[in-house]
Parts: sequence; structure tokens; C-alpha cells
Amino acid sequence: MNQFEIEGMRQELDVASVGFGPAGIALACALEDEAEDNGKKPFQRVKFFEKGRDATWHGAFLLAGTDINHHVFRDLVTPRNPRSRFSFAMYLKAKGRLYKFGLLGRPASRVEWSDYISWVADQLNDYVSYDEGVVDILPVTESGILKAVDIVTPKGIYRTRRLVLSHGSLPRIPEVFSAHLGGRVFHTSQYLKNVHLGGGPIAQRWLVLGSGQSAGEAVAHLLGAAPTTQVHSVHRGVGFRVGQLGQFPNMAFLPEQVDYFHQLEPARRTRVFDEIRSTNYAGIDADESQALYSFMYEGEVSGHQRLNLHTWSSVESVEKVGDAYSVVLRDNNTGSETTLYVDGIVLGTGYEQLAVPPLLTLLLPWLVREEDGSLSVDRSYRVSLQNSEGLQILANGTSEKTHGISDAQSFSMVALRAQQLTDALLATQPRQLAKVVSHPKRAAAARAEARS
Ligand SMILES: Cc1cc2nc3c(=O)[nH]c(=O)nc-3n(C[C@H](O)[C@H](O)[C@H](O)COP(=O)(O)OP(=O)(O)OC[C@H]3O[C@@H](n4cnc5c(N)ncnc54)[C@H](O)[C@@H]3O)c2cc1C
Repeated sequence: MNQFEIEGMRQELDVASVGFGPAGIALACALEDEAEDNGKKPFQRVKFFEKGRDATWHGAFLLAGTDINHHVFRDLVTPRNPRSRFSFAMYLKAKGRLYKFGLLGRPASRVEWSDYISWVADQLNDYVSYDEGVVDILPVTESGILKAVDIVTPKGIYRTRRLVLSHGSLPRIPEVFSAHLGGRVFHTSQYLKNVHLGGGPIAQRWLVLGSGQSAGEAVAHLLGAAPTTQVHSVHRGVGFRVGQLGQFPNMAFLPEQVDYFHQLEPARRTRVFDEIRSTNYAGIDADESQALYSFMYEGEVSGHQRLNLHTWSSVESVEKVGDAYSVVLRDNNTGSETTLYVDGIVLGTGYEQLAVPPLLTLLLPWLVREEDGSLSVDRSYRVSLQNSEGLQILANGTSEKTHGISDAQSFSMVALRAQQLTDALLATQPRQLAKVVSHPKRAAAARAEARS
């Protein structure tokens, strides 16, 4: 019996990542570029665990006619290394669409962006194990000192001293819906899996909660799915607002803004975040706002209204009544209540990052926290640990609270962060115990020095 069997199927990994979405894939690109530049892999045993069956990008909400909302230069690699073979330009070249894309005159569609991500991921198959979600992360200690973690999946247990959290953000589910989730009550992250539940014609009466891009897209999709569908669009505030598209607030996504944000006290960070949140959250595109408003207006003209707006409203209660749901809305200002009967409920309520990712619950005694309870993560994305030795945990797109708006739910920092993570990982190698250096040239120089 070999050691592997003795240890109860536990494997050792040099680097393990939870998640192989864009952030994880971008890190794999950086590791692969590093291997190609130096003729050898920086780490031999690397595994990205991905609970999805493939690398489709937000596949359950990949609606036709939707565009990406960032520049294509902010792909998985270009800001880090425009010469990388994993760029969007290389994808277009490989697909024979480089010139044709140039004639489009609009951003890439989400469908094309997902195809680009899958094209990159397909070239990195050695790095990933699909259909293998991480269900638990266990501490490995010696005399109370945290030395490593065991990653538990339905397929095995893996021990590592370098853990990367690339698992993205969590769907935000308001408490009142929790007991009803599944079937015809679902978050937009489950949309295409559930909206045509049971096949046959689409359900007729819908409630969509939320004022952001996903909610707006769900409303438009449901109205377009059949000529008879009715949608109740429920908003806490005034209704759909156009997202902040101006250049100045969007400078918040420039890489140098991460340095600015990270140095602030937690309370200041919250203030800065609130000031710029409308650049990426709770806003829809101007053309979508125009289309939804026009639809509602035409409903008034024809006397056949299919889009019913409920502003200043909160959902007080939800009750299942046969195959339908009765939903009580409360006006936040007047207190008046309205009861709606619908066949399905879509939660366009966005995503969130909790103070501590649920997967780290068992590591709580070793996690250093900020004043607001969130994880303390240094500028190089290292999660701060106490009573720990030789273990590195890195946040990859999971440090919005310490690094700001571009470090979650955005492509802005995906490529550059991958370089910083690679540098942080390389700095843990025995010959490289020097400080983390993030600039590519400085990093290359430091590595060359360490090798000599
Ligand atoms: C519909 C939609 C459209 C968007 N459009 C844009 C856009 O145009 N531009 C932009 O900049 N941003 C956009 N975003 C934000 C987008 O989420 C990020 O840009 C990007 O997907 C973040 O990548 P990520 O890898 O950090 O997270 P994710 O894309 O969420 O990927 C995380 C991955 O981890 C996996 N995972 C999670 N938990 C586990 C686990 N326990 N075990 C194993 N695997 C796990 C997930 O299956 C997933 O594949 C959009 C988001 C949505 C939902």
C-alpha cells in the first residue's frame, strides 16, 4: 500500500484554488505564462477545483442580446502581459474574426465573452478539475499552530499550504424567500435552469425583485418570452436607475485606485465604496432603461399593461398557494400593503461577499479580522493569519472589502491581480523567501536573482 492510500486518499498539492471562473483562469494563465517563459512549471502539483461542469461564464444567465460592460483589453491577461497567448485578440485571431469584430461597433456580447473564456480554459485543462466543488476546508494544526489546510470535495481530500480563494461572490437571497427557493423561486444565477421549469409554455405571472442589470435583463426576457406574460417589477427605491457610466467615477476601476482604497480605515473604505457603487451595482444600461420605459409606456397606450412597476416597496411575506405564490408588498414610505399573485419569482438581487467566506468558517480562530469583522487581506492579497506557520491563503476576487470595487464582480483587476498572486506564491518557494514584488520587471529580476 503506498503513502497515498495510507493517508486515506489524501493528495498533497503545491497550490490549490477554489474556483475556476475568470479569476481562477487568469491565475492559471499567469502560472502557465511563467512556465513557458522559464521552461519549467513554477509548481508541479496545482489544482483548480471547479464545481461547474465546464468554464461557461455565468451560463445560467447567458442571455442572447446582452453585452459585456468592460473594454475587451480587460481580458484575462492583457493588462498583465499583452503578449500572452491567452488574450482576447489571440482568441479572435484563432477564430478568424479579428477584422469582423472591429466592424461590430459595440462591445463583445456576453455569449462571445463566455466563448473566449472557454477557449482559454480549454487550453488549461491540466490545471482544473471540473464538477468537483469544494465543500469544506479543514485546519491542519500542530500544537495549535495552523500549518496547512485539507480541502474536502466529494471526490477526495487534498492537503495544501497554498490556498487561493477564487470562488467569486455569493448570490444575495433576501431572508423572506429562503424557505421558498427552488422550482419557480430562484436567483438570476439559476435563471435559465429554472425559468422554463417542466418544459411547455412559460409561466404567465412573474415577480422580479431588484433594480440592477440582472433584474432589468430578467424583466425584458420574461416580457419577450411570450406575448402574454405579466411582470411585476419590484423596487426598494424609485425604480431602475441608469448605472454610472461617466469616465470620472469609473476611474475607480483604475489599478492605482486599489492602493488608495487599501490604505484606508474600514469606515473610510465603506464611504468610498458607497460613493462609487453605482458604477457597477444597482444600475442598468441607458438603452435598457429606454427599452423598459418604452415598453411600459406602450402598455399604457394600448391599455394592455404587462410591465407593472412597484416602487418604494419591500416584500413583507411570501406564501405558496397551490402552484402560485401570494406576495405581500409594503410601501416603505406610506406603509400601505398590496398583495400580488404570481406563478414565479426571480431574485435579481445581485451578489455579495460576506465578512468571512463560509468556506473559511473552520479556520476562524486563525483568521485576523478588520474592525468591521471582515477578513484582513494585505495589499498582495494574502489573508492575514495568526498562530500560523508556512500556510498562505490568497484572495483572488474575494477581497472587495479591503481592495475595493474593482476586486470583485469585475474584470478590471483580474489579469493584474493574477500577476500579484503569482508573485506571492513564488515568494513562498524556499529559494525565494524574499519579499513579494509585484511589478513584472521587478518580479522577473528578483526571480532571476533567486535562481542565480
Ligand atoms: C450576468 C453577469 C454579467 C456580468 N458581466 C460583467 C461584465 O460585463 N464585466 C465585468 O467586468 N464583470 C461582469 N460581471 C461580474 C463577473 O462576476 C466578474 O467579472 C467575473 O465573473 C468574476 O470572476 P470570478 O472568477 O471572480 O467569479 P465567478 O465568475 O463567480 O467565478 C467563480 C467560480 O468559482 C466556482 N465556485 C464557487 N464556489 C465553489 C466551490 N465551493 N468549489 C468549487 N468551485 C466553486 C464557481 O462555479 C465559478 O465558476 C458579470 C456578472 C454576472 C453575474
